Amino acid sequence: MVTDVDELGLAGLDPKATVVVATGNAHKLDEIRAILAPIMGGMHFVALSELGDFPDPVEDGQTFLENALIKARAALDETGLAMAVADDSGLCVDALGGAPGVHSARWAGRHGDDDANNDKLLAELASVPEGRRTAHFHSTVVLVLRDEKGERVLSGEGDCAGSIGRVRRGTGGFGYDPLFALDEVTGRTMAELTPAEKNSVSHRHHALVDLASKL
Ligand code: IMP
Repeated sequence: MVTDVDELGLAGLDPKATVVVATGNAHKLDEIRAILAPIMGGMHFVALSELGDFPDPVEDGQTFLENALIKARAALDETGLAMAVADDSGLCVDALGGAPGVHSARWAGRHGDDDANNDKLLAELASVPEGRRTAHFHSTVVLVLRDEKGERVLSGEGDCAGSIGRVRRGTGGFGYDPLFALDEVTGRTMAELTPAEKNSVSHRHHALVDLASKL
């Protein structure tokens, strides 16, 4: 992970020039920094996980926006900084009425158990024929700005369309990637893309571009 934090840690950061990114995922930090840093000139983007061992907030929102806000506000509360970016994302399967949606990470029970989640997805769609296995990934990204007058929220939304396969393919990415065949890159699952290819078509990329257009 490229780091902007020196040995002073949180104490060495200028709150007016620091955006805390509410993630411990190095890929997300790089993606967020690559898109927002050129627009938010002079800002340093620092992952929350670089600043300390903070507990994960309870993501009990009903929407991606609510959960993204929970993460961003927790990062501001924990660090005392004034600017935070967070994203919340998930898989929405049409034949399942949009599930797992905001429950994507813990759909099969344990948070982040990708293998169990993919097994559950295959089981739930076992009798669903080709052509009705359509789905999309969704991402909502928020930028929360705090000052003495209150809070300002900017958000961006992004989707990535595809369909759910019957067997896992590919070793890249994470989550539901091995079962998610992209519309945009015919014949390949998200897990068969290079990181750069995935970043150029991903729901998070589209959400960040949408947010960047509002800055
Ligand atoms: P989070 O917003 O990073 O907490 O992601 C929620 C869950 O959605 C993850 O644990 C994955 O199961 C799923 N997910 C989100 N983005 C992706 C992706 O790019 N590929 C595969 N699964 C994803």
